[in-house]
Amino acid sequence: MPDPIIQINKASVIYNQGKDNEVRSLEDASLNIFPEEYIIIYGPSGCGKSTLLYTISGLQSATSGDAIVDGKNISEMTKKEKVILHRSSVGMVFQAFYLIDSLTVLDNVCLPMVFGGEDLQKRKEEGMSLLKRFGIAEQADKFPNQLSGGQKQRAAIARSLINNPSIILADEPVGNLDSESAENVLQILSDLNKTDKKTVVMVTHNAEHLHFANRVIYMKDGKIVSEEVNQEKRPKEVLEKEEALIEPDSISNELKLLMRTFKNFSPQQMGGLLIPYKAKQILSHILSELMEEQVAAAENFLKELMFKNIDFAGLEKKLDDDLEKGGAGWNKQRARSFSRRVKTMLEKAENISNGSNSEAIADYLLNVCGTHLDADIKEKFQSFIQLRLENKIDASTLNQKLDASRILGGIGMYKNTSKKVVKEVEILMLLKFTGKV
Ligand code: ADP
Ligand code: MG
Repeated sequence: MPDPIIQINKASVIYNQGKDNEVRSLEDASLNIFPEEYIIIYGPSGCGKSTLLYTISGLQSATSGDAIVDGKNISEMTKKEKVILHRSSVGMVFQAFYLIDSLTVLDNVCLPMVFGGEDLQKRKEEGMSLLKRFGIAEQADKFPNQLSGGQKQRAAIARSLINNPSIILADEPVGNLDSESAENVLQILSDLNKTDKKTVVMVTHNAEHLHFANRVIYMKDGKIVSEEVNQEKRPKEVLEKEEALIEPDSISNELKLLMRTFKNFSPQQMGGLLIPYKAKQILSHILSELMEEQVAAAENFLKELMFKNIDFAGLEKKLDDDLEKGGAGWNKQRARSFSRRVKTMLEKAENISNGSNSEAIADYLLNVCGTHLDADIKEKFQSFIQLRLENKIDASTLNQKLDASRILGGIGMYKNTSKKVVKEVEILMLLKFTGKV
């Protein structure tokens, strides 16, 4: 099992301690980050995100608690040791870029290497290859103030990479950029995580970025209040310990209540009545954090889609349109991926109610939950899913079957994956009620 590459243990940062103007910027924060994770620290302005990031980087000393990075306790480090840590293990990217105006772009990028003693030729070659990679080789001999914001940030990222650190810490790296440059920079950070296997920790207050992360850490008033896993990268043992924190399945209970209420309705009637509820469930299922206004608008369009007042292209457009124009004010990419996801879910639900083969459903579930099973065990997985779809077992039994080790007749999935599968199955079962929506 890999050890965490970053460990924050009960760290607090308190300014003006004991005085009238005391500020608790970070309170009792604990966090483990594992190699190759992409973590986003998310929360409103002033909630302590930067403080947490700087505590990780050693730029900020914790008032109490520990920060251990790459096996070294930062609070016990001398200044010199911190400099070495930053040179070798940690690259930093800031909202304000912090390029040196009097140096060329290439010299800015190579600057962290000067202290390492490599020869000039080798240094420049490596700097150039990073500039090429990020599409700004032509800017190498220009000065920072001749660059656009997006180009500056790409140069700053190149600088953070010049010593090949394993960790990249980025504080609101696209906060000053237009949306196209932002997208480009976010893509670069994502590539550094996926292709170069860097551990990335990014701070943002923009919910549209959250999908990039493997795990989102939510902060409020100086505290870590919750976290959300998009895609598991952590060792199984850790996930098991955190099992207790995962909220119980709420969909099926609410659905049971609803079904009892609508006992005397035909499936069609019930389907119609359920649409607002379904729209809500789909939305909360797919999205976690958008602005309230954006969510409310989107929920309405989803209802319109399900009542067949608009089609999928219409949904996508409405989501993308600005709030002022009566849309939901999302960005294009998110509107597209959302309406595609809804489309697939509704199609799958329809397939289920038409009695389609369970293999296609099984493949879909595995795909959506980002996991893979070998052929022999997949057949078994399929049969469990079938049992649930036919309502012969309940959601928690399905969860047990998926979670149990193979020796005990289960599928041996990670806890979080089995939870995800069960949730997806439950929502498909809810959606299939009307058949065609
Ligand atoms: P975020 O990055 O989430 O916007 P910060 O970590 O920058 O938030 O700040 C958290 C809180 O700590 C804020 O209330 C901020 O005003 C306060 N703070 C930050 N730096 C200082 C400082 N040097 N002295 C006093 N208060 C500070
Ligand atoms: Mg900040």
